[in-house]
Amino acid sequence: MSKLITLYDTTLRDGSQGEQVSLSAEDKLRIAQKLDEFGIHYIEGGWPGSNPKDARFFEMARKTPLRTSRLTAFGSTRRARTRADKDKNIKKLLNTEVETLAIFGKSWDLHAFQILGVPLDENLSMIEDTISYLKKQGRELIYDAEHFFDGYKHNQNYALRTLTAAVNGGADIIVLCDTNGGTLPYELQTILSDTMPLIKVPVGIHAHNDCGLALANSIVAVQLGTTMVQGTINGYGERCGNADLITVIGNLEMKMGYDCVGPEKLKQLTELSRYVSEVANIPPLNQRPFVGKSAFAHKGGVHVSGIMKSPKSYEHIDPEKVGNRRRILVSDLSGKSNIEYKAREMDIRLKENGHEIQKIVYEIKKLEDQGYQFDAAEGSLELLIKKAIGQFEEPFTLESFRVITEKNHSGPSTSQATIKISVGNDQEITAAEGDGPVNALDNALRKALTKFFPHIEDMSLVDYKVRVIDGSEATAAKVRVQIETRDPREIWSTIGVSPNIIEASWQALEDSVQYKLSREANHSKP
Ligand SMILES: [Zn+2]
Repeated sequence: MSKLITLYDTTLRDGSQGEQVSLSAEDKLRIAQKLDEFGIHYIEGGWPGSNPKDARFFEMARKTPLRTSRLTAFGSTRRARTRADKDKNIKKLLNTEVETLAIFGKSWDLHAFQILGVPLDENLSMIEDTISYLKKQGRELIYDAEHFFDGYKHNQNYALRTLTAAVNGGADIIVLCDTNGGTLPYELQTILSDTMPLIKVPVGIHAHNDCGLALANSIVAVQLGTTMVQGTINGYGERCGNADLITVIGNLEMKMGYDCVGPEKLKQLTELSRYVSEVANIPPLNQRPFVGKSAFAHKGGVHVSGIMKSPKSYEHIDPEKVGNRRRILVSDLSGKSNIEYKAREMDIRLKENGHEIQKIVYEIKKLEDQGYQFDAAEGSLELLIKKAIGQFEEPFTLESFRVITEKNHSGPSTSQATIKISVGNDQEITAAEGDGPVNALDNALRKALTKFFPHIEDMSLVDYKVRVIDGSEATAAKVRVQIETRDPREIWSTIGVSPNIIEASWQALEDSVQYKLSREANHSKP
């Protein structure tokens, strides 16, 4: 028996109602194409009746049809006391020309009566009429029973009658929604066990995460026989978000033996999560199950020595199956095993007697005590290891720099930097401007170095973070600067710590360039 689960993504509709999420019509199209490529079965594109942006998205989507996914448009039942064929919003839904429509209606008597202000019988007609009218237009119909679980708790009989109205109207799938996200898994289990046998069409689940239970509720629902799961990539959505489809897929495929996208596509799960966070401009969550940067990161020495003997000892699945990778972190908590693993990863050979490892651990502990954090700065860590064991030759040396920032009245401030470096016996002095002092310094350093190392032109700064920290000597507050740099080959992060933000930034910048140059030297070795 095939255990196929249909995935219904609503990142572009419910997800874009999340507080930090703002997607243009073009962003939505890019995400839709990515979801299509990944093999999500249904993509809810938006609510054309609610905003012009969504209407524009559907117009654009008509010109670039999806290959495998079905695009759906979302809308509400007709207004009270009108006819479905006269309802403006329903017309807009049909104008999208998509084959599948998702219609939501009220299952909770309180909502029908108090919020919409319509008699309970009229609400039932609104559901049935809307669906039967749209079915007659030849569309596939998904009915979202909004607030179903709350409605069921307050007025079981009425909530069930709303579902019957949808089925009588001709709905192809009934989706039970935990709209307020307040239902607990054992309540959901009881309600579904009672309800599922009464619904004569396939059933889906749409869970919100207000109790942190959207994933648990979705999993329980699948176990009880629902065949569609609705959710959003990375769980974006109103308030605490929706069920995170990324984690839903990870669990259904890897733990429960269901078929959603298959093992080949599953390897793109991490990439899909990061792509959507990139387009939505929300930093990816490191702790996100299956796909987060930290999902398979090991820091404790005991764990690392375990992993080296058998990865199963501290990993619930093979990270590569979901396109993620194992990371061994090095910090002041690290034992010998972490350093050994890391050095091997960096292609650095350490002497057998253990003296070098001791030296490296000592250096790391000393610097972490001053506020450095090497588990988040692997570029600086590599330099530290090479320096500690005498395998590092500085490609350039700083002689001096000077940075000036000027501001007049309310005009924008300007920054200039001059820098003097030496490379072997040569010296170079350059000056450059920048948007701010760090940018000016970065520009001046690159200008000075390009003559000697033309390769550095292909590196660029992708992220710059500053945090105020307390060192162990509680004298002055220090700042920790962490920068992320990329070139066509890789991304690396480096770190600097100082009471002076320019000094801390310089350390991180210098490490970033030194790292790049030492890598280039490695690559050019025969
Ligand atoms: Zn929702």
